[in-house]
Amino acid sequence: MTEVRGAGGFSELLLLGPGPSNPYPEATAGLVRPVLGHLDPEFLALYAEVGARLRAVFQTANRVTLPVSGTGSAGMEACLVNLLEPGDVAIVGVNGYFGERLCEVARRTGAEVVRVEEEWGRPLDPERLLEAQRTTAGGRARLVAVVHAETSTGVRNEVAPLRALQETGTLLVLDTVTSLGGIPVEVDGWGVDAAYSATQKCLGAVSGLAPVTFSERALARVAARSPVGSFYLDVGLLDAYIYEPHRYHHTASSVLVSALHAGLGRLLDEGLPSAWERHRRVGELLQGALPALGFELAAAEGHRLPQLTAARLPAGLDDAKSRRRLRDDFGIEVGGGLGPFAGQAWRIGLMGHGAREHSVAALLGALRALLG
Ligand code: PLP
Repeated sequence: MTEVRGAGGFSELLLLGPGPSNPYPEATAGLVRPVLGHLDPEFLALYAEVGARLRAVFQTANRVTLPVSGTGSAGMEACLVNLLEPGDVAIVGVNGYFGERLCEVARRTGAEVVRVEEEWGRPLDPERLLEAQRTTAGGRARLVAVVHAETSTGVRNEVAPLRALQETGTLLVLDTVTSLGGIPVEVDGWGVDAAYSATQKCLGAVSGLAPVTFSERALARVAARSPVGSFYLDVGLLDAYIYEPHRYHHTASSVLVSALHAGLGRLLDEGLPSAWERHRRVGELLQGALPALGFELAAAEGHRLPQLTAARLPAGLDDAKSRRRLRDDFGIEVGGGLGPFAGQAWRIGLMGHGAREHSVAALLGALRALLG
C-alpha cells in the first residue's frame, strides 16, 4: 500500500504579511470548541453576540450586522451584489489593487463603473469623489465605493467628508478589510451605508468570515430592487437565517464563528482606543526604522496606515530569495508587492495579535542579518 502523507506539520511562523496575521490565542481556542449544528440554539445565541460585538467595532447601530461565510472578497461581493443591478452607475475610488477589484466586482453585477483614480501611494481626494457624484448620471449614481485601508500601498483614504453623500440618493460603500480593529472606523459617524471586512487581519481571528453591516437606507434599496443576483449572498436571506425567524439558508461553520467571537472579545476587552493606539505605536516604530535599512515607504506621509506598511526594497535585495530566507531561516512571513509594486516592494503587516513590539524587533533583527 502506498503511504499517503499530508503536509500536516505546518511551521509556526510569525505572520507579518498583509494577512492572515497570527490569531489571538483565544481565537485559536475557539477553533477547537465542539462543532454545533447551524440552527442549534447555542450557535444562534453565539451569532447574536457576534452581531453585537461587530456593531461595537464597526461603531454602528445597524441591526443587520453579521458575518458572511467566506473571506473578505465575499463581503465585497455581498455589499455590491445586493446594492447594484444592471444599468446602475457605481463610482469607485481607485488608488490601488483593491480599488481595482471593487471595479471588477461592480462591473460583474452589470453596473456601469465610473472610476475616480489617484496614483498608487497617494490618497483619494474625497472632493473629487463628491464632484463625480454630482456630475455623473445627473447625480443619480447608485453608490460610491471606497477602500478605507488600501492594502497594496499602505495608504489610508479619508472617509469622513463622504458623509455628504447622505444628502443625496447615492449610497456609500466602504471596504474595511484591513482597517477594522486597527484604526478607527465610524460606520454611523461617516454615513456609511454598507461596509465589509475580514476576520484574519486586525480582528485577530482566522480567515473564512466576512463581517458586513447594512444601514436602513441600504436595506430600503434592497427591498425596492429586483431579486438580488446571488442567492448565497442575499442579505435578506442571511438576515432571516442569522436573526429571527432563523430560516435555514446555508450550513455556517460554528468553529469559525466561535473563533471570531473570541477574537472580538479579546479586542473589546482591550478596548478599541487601546488597540488603535497599540497599532499606531508599533507601526511608527517600524516605519521609523525601515529607511535606515534602505527601504523607502510607498505611502504618502500623513496618509500611512500603521497596520500595513508597503516599502520599496533597498537596491540589491532580491525579493523572492529574501522573503524565502526570512521564512525559512527566521520564521517570518512578509508579503510581496502587488501590481506595479510586484518584485519591488514588500507589504509588512502588524495586525491584531501581531501588532506588538516583539514583532517589530524580530523583523528588524532578521532584516539586519539579511542585509549585513
Ligand atoms: N479588500 C482589501 C482592502 C484587502 O486587503 C483584501 C485582502 O487582502 C480584500 C479586500 C480581499 O479579502 P480576502 O483575501 O479575505 O478575500
